[in-house]
Amino acid sequence: MQETLRVCEFFTSIQGESSYVGLPCVFIRLTGCNLRCGYCDTRYAYTEGTDVTVSQLLRDVQATSLRLVEITGGEPLLQDATPLLIDGLIDMGLKTLIETNGSVNISRFNRNAVFIVDLKAPSSGMAAYNDLSNLKALSSTDEVKIVLGNRDDYQWASDLITRYRLTRRCHVLLSPVAGTLEPETLATWILRDALDVRLNLQLHKYIYGADRRMV
Ligand code: SF4
Repeated sequence: MQETLRVCEFFTSIQGESSYVGLPCVFIRLTGCNLRCGYCDTRYAYTEGTDVTVSQLLRDVQATSLRLVEITGGEPLLQDATPLLIDGLIDMGLKTLIETNGSVNISRFNRNAVFIVDLKAPSSGMAAYNDLSNLKALSSTDEVKIVLGNRDDYQWASDLITRYRLTRRCHVLLSPVAGTLEPETLATWILRDALDVRLNLQLHKYIYGADRRMV
């Protein structure tokens, strides 16, 4: 197994999404993605990056003294050495979040990590790549995130939540596509349907601005 990862960004920031929103967090953004979502705001992660050994990454995380770390991308589960990194972070006793795009089966990875499975709604153009077997593998600490661009996406998400009883099994996060769907509109739909989900906004963009890269 390769012990080197292609890393796009390593930074500390305030966690902007998920149930861990607001907490100080280390982010490791790995290079490469197998999808091309229409609203993607991290296109630079498709190719930009440098090679870093897993042991160096673990030392870098330790040097921050933070207890929460997120591996993201791109799609972080595509690289051969990602399982080594996950195992190393878990062994260090860190709360480890993995944000994955929902196209990769999560079952073969260390399930002591928290998996945030980012399901692709129709307006992303990538819904055909959802690996729905992941929905059966979810544990109660995992999270499902769905980014919504319009009412059809919301209906699609509601149907999926009902069919897989998602809100009874894990955290469910619904996010509006920035600049496309108003948060207030999504809030109104959620309240009207009494949907037991978390409205997920990108807190880091309120703190640092929409375009700032954390390098
Ligand atoms: S999965 Fe994430 S990184 Fe990949 S194209 Fe979609 S939004 Fe961008």
